[in-house]
Amino acid sequence: MAGRSINRVFWGLLIGSFAFALVFSAIAVWITSKPFLADTQKQAIMSQAKREAARVDALLDPSVSLTAFLATEPSLVSFVMGDQARDDAFVDRLSNTILPQEVTEFFVFDFEGQPISFHIVSPQAQSMELAAGAADLAAFVLSTGEPTVRTIDSYRAVQSGTQELLIAAPIRNRGFAEGVLVTVVFIPFETDTISDGTSSMYARIVDPSSNWALVSAGQGAINVPIEATGLILSVKSEASLFRQIGQALVIQTILSIAAALLLPFAVFGWLGKQSILLPHAEMEMSRNKLREQQKELKELAAIAERAGEAILITDLDCRIMWHNPAFENISGYTSEEIRGQLPSKLLQGPNTSAEARAQIRAALQAFEPITIEVLNYRNGTEEYWIQLSISTMFDDEGQPYGYMAISQDVSDRKRDEANLLATTSAMEWQALHDELTGLPNRRYFNTTFDEICANPDKTRALAIVRIDLDHFKNVNDTMGHEAGDLVLCEVARILREEIGPDDVPVRVGGDEFIVFMTVDGTLQKAQILATALLKRIAEPIEYEGKSLRYGASFGIASSSCKLVAHSDLVRAADAALYIAKERGRNQVVCYGTEEHRQVNEVRATAELIRVGLDRGEFEPFFQPQFDAKTRRIVGAEVLARWIHPQKGVVLPSEFLQVAQQLSMLTILDKIVMEKALRHVAELEDLGLTLPRVSFNVTADRLCDPELLIAVDARPFRHTKMSFEILESVFLDDQPEYLDFNLDRLRDKGLSIEIDDFGSGHASMISLMRVRPDVLKIDQRLVFGAPHSRVCRNMVRSIIGIADSLDIGVTAEGVETQEHADMMQEMGCETLQGFYFSEPMRFEDLCVFLSAERQKHMQIAQ
Ligand code: C2E
Ligand code: CA
Ligand code: CA
Repeated sequence: MAGRSINRVFWGLLIGSFAFALVFSAIAVWITSKPFLADTQKQAIMSQAKREAARVDALLDPSVSLTAFLATEPSLVSFVMGDQARDDAFVDRLSNTILPQEVTEFFVFDFEGQPISFHIVSPQAQSMELAAGAADLAAFVLSTGEPTVRTIDSYRAVQSGTQELLIAAPIRNRGFAEGVLVTVVFIPFETDTISDGTSSMYARIVDPSSNWALVSAGQGAINVPIEATGLILSVKSEASLFRQIGQALVIQTILSIAAALLLPFAVFGWLGKQSILLPHAEMEMSRNKLREQQKELKELAAIAERAGEAILITDLDCRIMWHNPAFENISGYTSEEIRGQLPSKLLQGPNTSAEARAQIRAALQAFEPITIEVLNYRNGTEEYWIQLSISTMFDDEGQPYGYMAISQDVSDRKRDEANLLATTSAMEWQALHDELTGLPNRRYFNTTFDEICANPDKTRALAIVRIDLDHFKNVNDTMGHEAGDLVLCEVARILREEIGPDDVPVRVGGDEFIVFMTVDGTLQKAQILATALLKRIAEPIEYEGKSLRYGASFGIASSSCKLVAHSDLVRAADAALYIAKERGRNQVVCYGTEEHRQVNEVRATAELIRVGLDRGEFEPFFQPQFDAKTRRIVGAEVLARWIHPQKGVVLPSEFLQVAQQLSMLTILDKIVMEKALRHVAELEDLGLTLPRVSFNVTADRLCDPELLIAVDARPFRHTKMSFEILESVFLDDQPEYLDFNLDRLRDKGLSIEIDDFGSGHASMISLMRVRPDVLKIDQRLVFGAPHSRVCRNMVRSIIGIADSLDIGVTAEGVETQEHADMMQEMGCETLQGFYFSEPMRFEDLCVFLSAERQKHMQIAQ
C-alpha cells in the first residue's frame, strides 16, 4: 500500500513539476516578450501604415491631378456657365481620356452647388447615394474655392473592405468658381497585403475633422497623413489579433519547452525510480517480511507458552536458555532451578538407558534430529517416560547455535504397552500351548517347524518322533475322562523327563505327541529316546487304586537319512507310525529305505486309484446270502471291484488299504454305494426282488453326514439296507458321534452287522454299545470249523452270545457243503460263500436272481 502510494507521489511530483516548469516558463516568456511584442507590433503597424499611406497617396495622386485638370476643361467650363450643349463635349472628352482605374463617377455642380451632370465611367460605380456627399463637398469647395478630397462612408464600402473618396475641384472662369467637378474614386484596402503574418490592421482613410478620426485616435490608432489630400490614414491595432499572436507564441514556446524538458525529466524519472522507488519498494518488502516474522514469532511464542509438550531451548553446550511452563509441570522443577542447567543432569537418573543417552549424545554432536523414548526423573526422584524430539537450530548462515527439545510424558502409554505386552504374551503362550499338559501345541509345532524348514541348519539334521498312544480310547471309555487326562499328563511328564535339553515335546492333539530334535548324522539319538519312552509308557500307573495300562506306537523320521526333504519329515514320521501300528502297535519304526519304498509304492498305487476313481473304474459286485434252512436268497453283500483296463478285475486287497491310508476310501465307498443303489432300483424295475443289500462301511464313512442323505434318497422301496462294520473298528478309538449316527441309521430301519466277528477282541461293552442286528462270523473260524474244535467252540459261543442278545448270525466263507451244513447245524441263520456263489457283476446277479426265482417257483409247484 505504502509502496504504491510512494510511487504515486513520485510520479505525481514529477509530472506536476514538469507541468509547473512548463507553465512558469510560458508565463516568463509571455511577461518578458509582451512589451517587446507590443512595441514591435506598433512599429510594424507604423511602417505598414506609412507604406499604406504612400500607396493611397500614389493611387489618389493621378485622380486629384485629373480632377484639377478636367475642371479646367473649356467644355466643362462652358457647360457650367450655361452652355448646355457643352456637356456632351465634356463627355467626349472624358471618353477620350485614359482614366485611372480607381475613378468610377463624375458629378458636376453649378455655381449654386446644384448638380447639373453625372457620369459613370466604371462598372464599379455603385450608387447615387454618393450624390448627397458630393453636393455637400461641392458646396464646401464653392465656399472655399479650394480643391478638396473627402471620404465618404458607405455601408457597402465598409463591408467590402474598400473606401470611396470624393475629389472635388472648382471649375473656374476667369478666376471665379463657376461650378465644381467631383470625382468619385474607389480605393481598395487589401488588408492581407499589409499584414506581415505577425500582425493585422484595420486601416481607414479619415478626414482629420471627422468623427472617425476622433474615434480611431481614442482607440489608440495610428494616424498617418496622406500628403496630397490632407486626409489621414488611420490604422487601428487589433487587440484580439495581438492576443492570438501572443497565444500562438505561448503555445509554441510551451511545446518547445516541453520538448526540451522531456528528456531531462525522463532521465530524472528513471534515476528517481532507480535510486528512490526501487530501494524504497525493497525496503518496504523487507519491512513487511520483518513484520510478518515478528507476528509469527509472537504466535509461536504464544503457542510454546501454552503447549502441553515441554519445550526447551539450549545453547550448543546444552545449557537451558529458555523453557515453557509445561516443562516446569512435567519436570517438577521451578524456573530458577531449570535456567542454565544441563537437561541430562537435571532429568536423567540411574535407570535411564545408557544406550538412549549415547544415541542422544551422538545426534547432538552430529547436529542431527532425533526422536527417542527416555526414562526421566521428576524432581530427581519419580520416574516417568517421555518421548523426546531434539533438533538443532541453525542461523541464516547455516551455523548451529543451539538445540530445541520437545518432549511429552508418555508414561501412561508405556504402562499400557507393558500391560498389553504381558497380556499378549500370556495369550500367545495359551495359543501356543496345550492347556492340560502345558506342552507346546500343534500350532506351536507348525510355526516352529515351518521356520526351521525355511532356514534349515545345514550342519545339523532334524529328527521327528511321532507318538500315538495305543487304545487310549479304551482308558477314556472304561475309566472316565479324568483317567484319560491323567494318562496324558503322565505321558507329558515322561516326555519332559526323557528328552534332551534342546528337544521340543509337543502334544499335537488327542493322544498324539511329537518330539522334535536336532541329531548328528544318525537316527540313534531319536531311537534311544523312543525306546526309553516306549518302556516308561508301558509301565502301568495307579488310578483310584487300579492300575492303568496302555502303550504307545512310535514313528521316527530324520533328515539324516536323506530320504525326504525337511518339509516331508512329518509325513515320513506319520508313515513310520502307521507301519508301527500295522505291525501290531507298541513298537518303534524308523523311516528307512524299506519304509520309504513302501510309502512310494502306496503313493504310486494311490495315484492309480485316483485315476481309476476319476474314470469310474470301480464297480459294485454282489455276493448273494442265503437262508441256512430254506437255502433261499435273503440278500447280497456289495463288494467293491476295480475293473482295471489292463489288469481286469482287481480285488479289494490290492487297493483298499492304500485307499484307506490315503483317505480315499470314503469317496470310493460313496461311488460304489451310489452305483449299487441304482442297480438295486433297477432290480425292482425288473421285478426281481433282492430282500436285503449290505454295504461294507468304514468308521469314517459312518460319520459322513452324506451317508444319511444317500440312505434317505435310496431309489427303491422293497429292499432292506444293511451296513457291515468291522469288529476292529470298535477296538480303535472312535468318535462319540459314531454312536449317534448308528442310532440314526437304525431309526431309518437299517440293520447293522458286525463283520469278521471273532477275529479281534471286541469287548462285550462295545458290543452292547453298538447293539448290532447281525454278527458275521469271521471266515477263518468257518474254514477251521470242520477240523478244529477250538474254531467250532468259538462259533458256538458266538452263536450263544448272539442268541442271548437276540442278534442274528451270518457265516461267511462257506466254501463247501460241509461248511454250509455245519453252520446251519450250529445255528447260523444266514450263509454266504463260494459254495453258493462268488461275488458277481450286476448283470450276472440279474440272471442269478431270475434263475433262483424260477427254481423256487418250480419247487413250489
Ligand atoms: P468282507 O467284508 O469280509 O467280505 C468278504 C470277503 O470274502 C470278500 O472278499 C469275498 O469275496 C470273500 N469271500 C466270500 N465268500 C468266500 C469264500 O467262500 N471263500 C473265500 N476265500 N472268500 C470268500 P473281497 O471281495 O476280496 O473283499 C475283501 C474285503 O474288503 C471285504 O471283506 C471287506 O472288508 C472289504 N471290502 C470289499 N468291498 C468293500 C467296499 O465296497 N467297501 C469297504 N469299505 N470294504 C470293502
Ligand atoms: Ca463284509
Ligand atoms: Ca467278513
